[in-house]
Amino acid sequence: MSKKEEDVDESCIFCLIAHNRDEETKIIKQNKELVCFRDVFPVAPHHFLVIPREHIHSCHSLNRKHIKLVEQMVELGRAALRDQGITNMEDVRLGFHKPPFISVGHLHLHVLAPASHISQLMTYKFTPGTDCFITEECLKNRLQKKPQQSQQLGNCLGFF
Ligand SMILES: [Zn+2]
Ligand SMILES: [Zn+2]
Repeated sequence: MSKKEEDVDESCIFCLIAHNRDEETKIIKQNKELVCFRDVFPVAPHHFLVIPREHIHSCHSLNRKHIKLVEQMVELGRAALRDQGITNMEDVRLGFHKPPFISVGHLHLHVLAPASHISQLMTYKFTPGTDCFITEECLKNRLQKKPQQSQQLGNCLGFF
């Protein structure tokens, strides 16, 4: 009973996963703030998602205060890859989809390896510097320049 009293948004599948409430999803790595699991539609031999337990909508909801969070997400993603025996950390791709190109409105970092084996048909979805995908590195740089207050209202287009 006690677990059920947690304040979880039942309509958000990633919130359910983050609170271990989705039986279909096997969590492969987690800590107090983050959860890592396999993408249901993998486009590379290893394709994980790292999400915060806290419901944050997307990379557009982030500001400078979240740089640490992004770094921790990256760290957990890399650790999950190492667990799978991935040693070449050059041939990986880590990044976020930008709204409106997000499948679930709960922040998630895509972790793909080897990057050179991303399915040809799907590369367009994971190409850095496009309208739909931003690498963690690039996102961090943008956040550095972003004011403390997140500017969710108004257009986000100026930001990305
Ligand atoms: Zn959520
Ligand atoms: Zn995505």
